[in-house]
Amino acid sequence: MSTFKGKIEEIPEISVDRFEEGNLDSEAFFLSHCHTDHMVGINTPEFREVLLKRNRFIYVSHVTKGILKQMHPYLKDQIRELDFHTPTPIYLKNRCISVIPIPSGHCPGSVMFLFEGSKTVLYTGDYRINLKDIKKIRAFYDDHGNMKKIHTVYLDTTFFLRDYMQFPTREESLHHIISLIEEWMSLGEEHIIHISVSAKYGYEYVFKEIFDKVKMPIHINEKAFDFYSLIPQLDGAITLTGENTRIHCSCGDSFNKICKNKEEYNIRTIKMSAMRWKNKDLEEGFTTNESESHFVCYSTHASYTEGVELIEFLKPKAIEPCVLRFDEDLDNQIYSSINELLNRDNEPKAKKPKLFDLKKLKNTQEAKTEKFSGVDQKYNDIFDEALDSPPEMTIPD
Ligand SMILES: [Zn+2]
Ligand SMILES: [Zn+2]
Repeated sequence: MSTFKGKIEEIPEISVDRFEEGNLDSEAFFLSHCHTDHMVGINTPEFREVLLKRNRFIYVSHVTKGILKQMHPYLKDQIRELDFHTPTPIYLKNRCISVIPIPSGHCPGSVMFLFEGSKTVLYTGDYRINLKDIKKIRAFYDDHGNMKKIHTVYLDTTFFLRDYMQFPTREESLHHIISLIEEWMSLGEEHIIHISVSAKYGYEYVFKEIFDKVKMPIHINEKAFDFYSLIPQLDGAITLTGENTRIHCSCGDSFNKICKNKEEYNIRTIKMSAMRWKNKDLEEGFTTNESESHFVCYSTHASYTEGVELIEFLKPKAIEPCVLRFDEDLDNQIYSSINELLNRDNEPKAKKPKLFDLKKLKNTQEAKTEKFSGVDQKYNDIFDEALDSPPEMTIPD
């Protein structure tokens, strides 16, 4: 949950992901993605007045523009679309800066912003990209192929805590989720799936992948449908008709309840979350099973290690945490990790954490997968092809 107040200290004329209070005097606005904690104030009369009367613009990616226009039609003439990886000049009253939107691997349309003015600043927004893909991001290099000098990184610190050292890759998690779905559904028509979620939105990528692989849409409630149907990639992947599918997600009377009952159906529940998975739990693998309730570790935010790797790669002079818990102990841990990373000499000193062996984890998962007869090879093929970050995030070498 973003706690960032919207102002980039190095470029005080702009605001990012906050549209209220002190941000209202900004000359340009940027939205990294359409999750509500990044859109505070966007639908208020005050912000509307700023945009329309002062003719200010809000800069977003193509997908975000489509969602935003439908969510808040009054914004439609004040939205400016930015192309991925392309530097765009932003003319402010007294100077011109440049912005490059970089797909951030968090949800469809989500971006990081690389701002270049007198100082270069990276605002990550919510993100999850692995180091291999980060190294391929052209925006981080100048025309001669040298690394740009980034002054400050405004960092997604959702899991920037040693308790969340490492997560399985999204593909590892999805591979397992899809195995669980197919294995259960192969037992008969009365066997249905309940996808249990910890937030109302943010499962775009999971839904898309489930639909692509299982070829069955996910039944969701009307409110979620209104939101997800704005995302072109989810075309066909979601439905309002419970009879069309055997995969259900929060389609019942209340949050996280589904429209089918235990009396008539055999229900397997798959609970996706990252928050409940700390290091010690992950030592045993990233799924557990309690009477047909399967917990799977799935994260659309970077783990601690992924955060450290981004920082070690970019070597900024300053880091601003964008997600604080307002828990003294946890926030102190975030700040002390940041200080440790910044106090390196020329070489980064932050230890490469290795609380559990990823290879061991993979072996455990493969052993578990083997018992799902008939589908193993098919999934191993998918698994081999899968990229760690969502495919649309990578750019050719
Ligand atoms: Zn988000
Ligand atoms: Zn349903």
